[in-house]
Amino acid sequence: MDGSDFELVVAGAGGGLVAALRAAELGSNVLVVDADEHFQRGNNTSMCTAMIPAAGTRWQREAGVADSPDRFIADIDRKTAGTADRRLARALAEVSARLVTWLADSQAIDLELVTDFRYPGHSADRCHTITGRHGSRILRHLVQRAHAHPRIEVIAPMSLREVCTTDRRVSGVEIATPDGHSEHLATPAVLLATNGFGADRALVRQWIPEIADSHYHGGQFSKGDALRIGRGLGADSAYLDAYQGHAALSSRSQTLVGWATVMHGGIVVNSDGRRFAPESTGYSEFAAILAGQPGGMGWIVIDEHIEALCSAFDDFCAVAAGGALVRAETATDLAVRLGVPSDALEDELAAARRSAAGQEPDRQGRADERHPLTGPYIAIAITPALFHTQGGLVVDEHARVLADRSPIPGLYAAGGAAIGISGHGAGGYLAGNGLIAALGLAFLAAEHVSSPVAA
Ligand SMILES: Cc1cc2nc3c(=O)[nH]c(=O)nc-3n(C[C@H](O)[C@H](O)[C@H](O)COP(=O)(O)OP(=O)(O)OC[C@H]3O[C@@H](n4cnc5c(N)ncnc54)[C@H](O)[C@@H]3O)c2cc1C
Repeated sequence: MDGSDFELVVAGAGGGLVAALRAAELGSNVLVVDADEHFQRGNNTSMCTAMIPAAGTRWQREAGVADSPDRFIADIDRKTAGTADRRLARALAEVSARLVTWLADSQAIDLELVTDFRYPGHSADRCHTITGRHGSRILRHLVQRAHAHPRIEVIAPMSLREVCTTDRRVSGVEIATPDGHSEHLATPAVLLATNGFGADRALVRQWIPEIADSHYHGGQFSKGDALRIGRGLGADSAYLDAYQGHAALSSRSQTLVGWATVMHGGIVVNSDGRRFAPESTGYSEFAAILAGQPGGMGWIVIDEHIEALCSAFDDFCAVAAGGALVRAETATDLAVRLGVPSDALEDELAAARRSAAGQEPDRQGRADERHPLTGPYIAIAITPALFHTQGGLVVDEHARVLADRSPIPGLYAAGGAAIGISGHGAGGYLAGNGLIAALGLAFLAAEHVSSPVAA
C-alpha cells in the first residue's frame, strides 16, 4: 500500500462511503478504513431506519409537496429553538436535494418519498427512503459500489489511530490492525467519519448524564476517536451534550419498534396504565421522559390498522416476528395481559380515541391528526435508548474541521464525528438529522477535496 496514491483517506465506512464514492467519481483515489470487521451490520448507518430528509426534490414535486431549503431550515430552527449551527443547517438543507438525486441517479439507489406519515417537527413530507426502510439495505449497496470502483480501496478491520500534519496541513495518517500492526501513509486529506462517542460510557456520563444509564443502541466502535484525534490537532468541538435518543426500542428484542406507530395514532402508557407526555413532541426527547417512568419502561399501544401500516418497516416486522406484540380484543383484556390497572388503561384509551376523533382536547396536549385507536389492541413493551451523540468537531459548510475558527487544511469530519444540526440536548433532534449530517457532510467534503481550490 502506497499512501501517496490516495488523495483522500476516509476513516469509517458508514456515511463515509458517500465521500469515497463522490470523491472517486470526481477523480480522486480513495482509501477507506474501518475499525470494525463487521461494520456492515454493526455501524449506525447499517442499523438506521434509512430516513433521509431532503427539501425541494423531484420526488416531492411529483407528489405535489411544496418544500424548500428555507422551509427545512425553519423546521430545524423551531425544533432546536434557534440553537443549531445556522451555517451548517443551511449547507445541509441546500445540499439535501442534490444528495438524494445523486444517491438515486449516480449510485442507483431506488429512493421513494415517505408520504404515509410524518415525523414530529417536519412541516412537509421530506423523508426519502428505500423499500424496507432499513439502513442495512443502503449500506450494503454503497459497499458493493465502493468495492467495484477502481479508484476506491476498502480495508477492514483497520483503525485510524492518528492524523499527521506538516506545517498545520494534513500530511498523513497512522492506521493499525487489531493486532497492533501500524503503518504510516502519506495523504493530503482525511475525512473523519468515525461517528460519535455513544459507545464510550465515561464520555457519555461526562457530557450527557441524563441518558448515561439507558441502553446504548448504536455502533460499538463509536468511541469518540474523531474527537480525540481532532482535539489533539487543536480542533474546536461543540454541542457535546446533543444526542439522538429513542423511546421505542422493543424491551424484548432490543430492536426498533419505530415512532411511526405513534405518529399513525398509537399512544404510550406506563406501568400504571397511564399516558404521561405528548407523544408527538418527538421520540428523541421522549427517551429521557420514558426513563423517568416507573421501571424506566412503558408500552406503545396500537391497533391492527396501525400494525398493517408499520409493516413497511423491516425493523417493525422483526419486532413482530420476535413475539413482542401483545394482542387483546378489549382494553380490559389488554390491561390484564400487561398487568396494569384496567380502569386506568380503559380510561386512557377511551379518552385518546375521543381526542383523536376531535371530540375533546387531548389530555397530554397532543394536536397531530391521527387515527383513533379501536380494538383489537396491540401493545409492545418499550425501553429508552441512546442511539448516537450529536456533538463533535466544529466544521464549516465544506465539512472542514476548524481550529480557532479556521480550517485545518486537509482535515474533514462528517456525521457523528462532527457537530450536528440538532442544537443542545435531545429535543432538537429532527428525524433524519443523523443521516443528513452523515451523508451530506461526506458529500460536501468529497466535493471540496476534489475541487481545485481545496485547502
Ligand atoms: C436504530 C437507529 C435508527 C436510526 N434511524 C435514522 C434515520 O432514519 N434517519 C437518520 O437520519 N438517522 C438515523 N439514525 C442515526 C444514523 O444512523 C446516524 O446518525 C448515522 O448513520 C451516522 O453515520 P456515521 O457515518 O457518522 O457513523 P457510522 O455509520 O456508525 O459509521 C462510523 C464507522 O466508523 C468506524 N470507526 C470508528 N472508529 C474508527 C477508527 N478509529 N478508524 C476507522 N474506523 C472507525 C465504525 O466501525 C463505523 O463503521 C438512526 C440510528 C439508529 C441506531
